[in-house]
Amino acid sequence: MEPGEINTQQNMMERFAALSRIGTALMRELNEERLLNMIAETACELTGAAFAAFTLRPVNEEGQPLVASEGNLFHLAAVVGVTKEQETLFRRMPLGGEGLLAPIFREGVAVLVADALAHQHHHHQSTQAQAGKNAAREAAIAYSHGKISTEGLLSMGVPAGHPTIRSFLGVPLLDRALQVRGGLLLGHPQPDKFTPDDEMLLVGLAAQASVALENARLFHAVQMRAQELNAIFESIADGITLIDSHGTVVRENGTARRLRKALLERPEQQQTLDTLAAILNEPARQALQGEVVQDITVTAFDEHNEQREYLVNASPFNSPTSSGSLPHLNNAPSNGNNTATGAVVIWHDVTEARHLIIEQRIHADTEARRVLLQRILDELPSSVYLVRGHDARLVLANRALTTVWGATWMPGQPMTTFLAENGIRIVGIDGHPMEQAQLATLQAVRQHETVRSKQEIIRHADGTTIPVLVNAISISASDLNLSLWDTSQTTNSESEPAAIVVHQDVTALKEAEALKDEFIGIAAHELRNPLAVLKGFSQMLIVQTARGKGPQLTDWQLEALDGIDQSTVRLVELIDDLLDVTRLQAGQLELSIEPTNLIDLVRRVMGKQRITTAQHTLNLHTALEHLVVNIDTRRMEQVLNNIIGNAIKYSPDGGTIDVTISEDRAQLFALLSIKDTGIGIPVEQQARVFGRFVRGDNARAYGIGGTGLGLYLSRELVERHNGRIWFESTEGKGSTFTISLPVKEQE
Ligand code: ADP
Repeated sequence: MEPGEINTQQNMMERFAALSRIGTALMRELNEERLLNMIAETACELTGAAFAAFTLRPVNEEGQPLVASEGNLFHLAAVVGVTKEQETLFRRMPLGGEGLLAPIFREGVAVLVADALAHQHHHHQSTQAQAGKNAAREAAIAYSHGKISTEGLLSMGVPAGHPTIRSFLGVPLLDRALQVRGGLLLGHPQPDKFTPDDEMLLVGLAAQASVALENARLFHAVQMRAQELNAIFESIADGITLIDSHGTVVRENGTARRLRKALLERPEQQQTLDTLAAILNEPARQALQGEVVQDITVTAFDEHNEQREYLVNASPFNSPTSSGSLPHLNNAPSNGNNTATGAVVIWHDVTEARHLIIEQRIHADTEARRVLLQRILDELPSSVYLVRGHDARLVLANRALTTVWGATWMPGQPMTTFLAENGIRIVGIDGHPMEQAQLATLQAVRQHETVRSKQEIIRHADGTTIPVLVNAISISASDLNLSLWDTSQTTNSESEPAAIVVHQDVTALKEAEALKDEFIGIAAHELRNPLAVLKGFSQMLIVQTARGKGPQLTDWQLEALDGIDQSTVRLVELIDDLLDVTRLQAGQLELSIEPTNLIDLVRRVMGKQRITTAQHTLNLHTALEHLVVNIDTRRMEQVLNNIIGNAIKYSPDGGTIDVTISEDRAQLFALLSIKDTGIGIPVEQQARVFGRFVRGDNARAYGIGGTGLGLYLSRELVERHNGRIWFESTEGKGSTFTISLPVKEQE
């Protein structure tokens, strides 16, 4: 069917009705590409054009043109009625406001060319001399003229392969601001195909297309904006809930959804429902009444059953959808009517922030406490340190440590490394270097033993020695929050042993003691000579008088002389004890060891002791005739005298004293025990009675005299014989002292 026939067959009414129908359909189509194709097809259909093309000027999201209408940046948006090759050509062609298209794009006017070949060709100079619309129209006609040379066409941007056009109709697409938005171009290879009616129709179609395009663009922009807002809304970490005037949740973001679900999923817990009320319902209610709810703190459990703390805010808003009216963006909130059409509730999770604050506070607290502890420790005169692990790595130390050790022990450094690196040696009181296992610190961490008052001597690299009393208290690392000080976070540190060690520098004490011993020694020495004279003269008086030399003495005179004599003997013994003590302290006590029959020795001592008392019975129990031990007989006699003498002395009411001699099973030791039924030793003094000048409280209370040196000397002497002495005693019941001595090996 010929387009001309269509034109004649359809009356204007029908065509406009078709245009209106199409217009309605266009308004519904929101996809730009489909829309343009639809317009192009409609244009062909209504005008009988052989082909139609749609060119568009690039615009931004707001619909503002990105380029001037001049130039060639328009792009082909849709084309119908051309071959594939022609379409490809069109797509490559610059479709700006040049040549034939210039009046459409530059001036925004329609161009109708009935027959391009019927027009005269004009020179460029003459076209430039004319102005405005006509000039453009002329240029277009000249350009579209079929007789224009190929070169001319090419120079004006129409390449070879372009479909031949004799009939041409082009109209601009104008936007709201009457700016050229694009063009709708129709063509036909035969002349006289387009009428002014067609032009009117096409102008109408272009106007509708322009509105439809703007609609599509707006719709697209709104959709994009909505998507953006939605993405933002969903990605907000706070919970946001929108509530309508009936209190129904109309919208909420992911966070709010999760939280509300978590609260609702535990409805059996009344507390949870209350929490939901506190977080959502109550703030929403207040907001719907026009109030602004600010920063209410609520605690709730989340979906992981973790307790969380929220700051809840709520405010009213006027929703355009629920009120049915347009929002008054720039208006102040309406007065008079306080009721909002909706409310927004925001739940802000502050759990982590709170924890952080609390943690910071705790950290500051511990730090302050640590600093205080360090200050206290630093002021202590004794060296104090804390070690951990089997290698006793230093954790914490005070200032005095450096003075005592003569070197700085670095935290984390094992004790033996520290000693080796600084040339420090630790020796026992006997002057021998101590084994590692004997060191109080290592004992505490390795054997988990608490060592108290151990004497050690620290010898610095320069030879200085410092005698110390060591207390090493074994603790487990988990008892302390060691992470406070620990920089090297080792695994399983919890089970590691640790020890607090206190070293007391006893140099001054030792010096005082040495001074005391020296004084005792000198005093005892000086006392000996006058005592010897006294003893000599009293003996002389007694002996010479007995021989009848000089006048006869009366009984009381003889008695007085006897008293003087006995007291001098007692005094000499006392001074000998004192001298022995000082000799022991100075290491000057020599033993003259010889094989001795212990049974004989004990018998002899017991015999002498029997004479001193009438109240006590002394019994010897033994199955042995001989028991040879290697001892200094005089010194062992001294020990036995002490122990048996004590048994008598501390049984003031008399009684039996049982002395038993036996051998241990392996026949390595002689065992000698002396049992009395006397006053016993109070528990409080039991640990110390072997010390110098230590006496039981009850001994004093009974008025029993003594110096507290006997047991000290006895133990020292027994130990020098490689023996041991110990006792068991109950206050008021009696005591049993036991001595063990190595038996002389059989040759
Ligand atoms: P002294 O007897 O000179 O006081 P010792 O060193 O011999 O000194 O004894 C120390 C203390 O031990 C005594 O003062 C006494 O309190 C207690 N003691 C020693 N032996 C006995 C004993 N057999 N029974 C009760 N107490 C004893």
